[in-house]
Amino acid sequence: MARGEELRLLYSQSFPAVFASLLAGLLVVIALWPVQDRALLLGWYAVLGFSALARIAVFLGYWRQSPSGDELLEWERPYSVTLLFSSAIWGFGALLIMPPESFLHQVVLLFFLIGMSGGALGVYSPHRKLMLATISTLLLPSAFWLLYEGTNLALLMAVGIAAFMVTVIRASEVLSSRMHQSFLLALVLDGARNEAERMARVDELTGVSNRRAFYEEGRLMQEYCERNDGLLAMILVDVDHFKRINDSHGHANGDLVLQKVARVLKKAVRSSDVCARIGGEEFGILMRVSRVEEAMKLAQKLCRHLAEAAIPLKDQKQEKAVSVMASFGVTTGNFGLDALFRTADAALYRAKEQGRNQVVYAACAG
Ligand code: GH3
Ligand code: MG
Ligand code: MG
Repeated sequence: MARGEELRLLYSQSFPAVFASLLAGLLVVIALWPVQDRALLLGWYAVLGFSALARIAVFLGYWRQSPSGDELLEWERPYSVTLLFSSAIWGFGALLIMPPESFLHQVVLLFFLIGMSGGALGVYSPHRKLMLATISTLLLPSAFWLLYEGTNLALLMAVGIAAFMVTVIRASEVLSSRMHQSFLLALVLDGARNEAERMARVDELTGVSNRRAFYEEGRLMQEYCERNDGLLAMILVDVDHFKRINDSHGHANGDLVLQKVARVLKKAVRSSDVCARIGGEEFGILMRVSRVEEAMKLAQKLCRHLAEAAIPLKDQKQEKAVSVMASFGVTTGNFGLDALFRTADAALYRAKEQGRNQVVYAACAG
């Protein structure tokens, strides 16, 4: 994950470096024009231009796909290959266009190579290995060439390049480990924030939405229904005689029953509906419907499913299962969530009074 983010940063910040390389190449060609074979200089610049085009094509492909997750890592190879190709044109190409006669122009070329390496330290630092490979490809061919030259000045410059590389390796270690740490920290914080947001909306025991999410999502559904002439239905569910389950099988088994009830409800509703635990053994369902009968049909189906479900309990002595029933209060209307809740609750109360294990509808009048 952190590697993906490092790659994302590379792509987002290094595009200008392609043009910086082209500009530096042009300056080198102008500087060496009087002292080097011009066809050779133009040929070198053409190959550099080709490598820049290849890099631009990789950037365009990346932006078009705008990858995320694991897909991001697939963009590491094309980035590295084209970058190293471009660095090799600089590093090895420099030996090709190095003017043999003019020490001053040799120094100018080395000056550009060192400048490019300094730039690479900053631009490619999110990816330490790639940055070190780039700098090595830029500088090592010239360093070996200087050693081969063998003059005192050339040796001094080779030592200078070696010192520069050691400094870069040291600095990059610190820089990239800090960067890596901050990426990891950002990921951890992001994960913690997502988890906190999830926990604020999910009922811990049953995994369905909690009361807060029920009202928040309910408000959104209500607005949607108002805008689109839809009808909002609310079903309130209260497990019958739940206290008896707790009393005879213990609180832990009571929890198991609540979890099972939540699963039965959740399985029967559509993914666009809201299914929440809104109190101890009370659940609520919100759904967009086109007719009242749709909500009644679902409530009756849930009433049957719940009564038919065998719920295994934890008992040290023997395997036991219980079944539970529930009462349902149903209402529909677009008078606001509070009005819906009051009406559905009154319907639920009637269902209890009339003997439980049944569905009662009440029209919401606002
Ligand atoms: P009724 O048919 O009238 O609804 O009767 P009831 O027993 O279901 O209703 P009552 O309101 O008397 O009891 C609800 C019980 O639910 C009381 C409370 O201890 C229990 N309860 C509330 N929250 C939890 C919970 O998270 N876990 C467990 N195991 N029990 C809970
Ligand atoms: Mg209750
Ligand atoms: Mg109850």
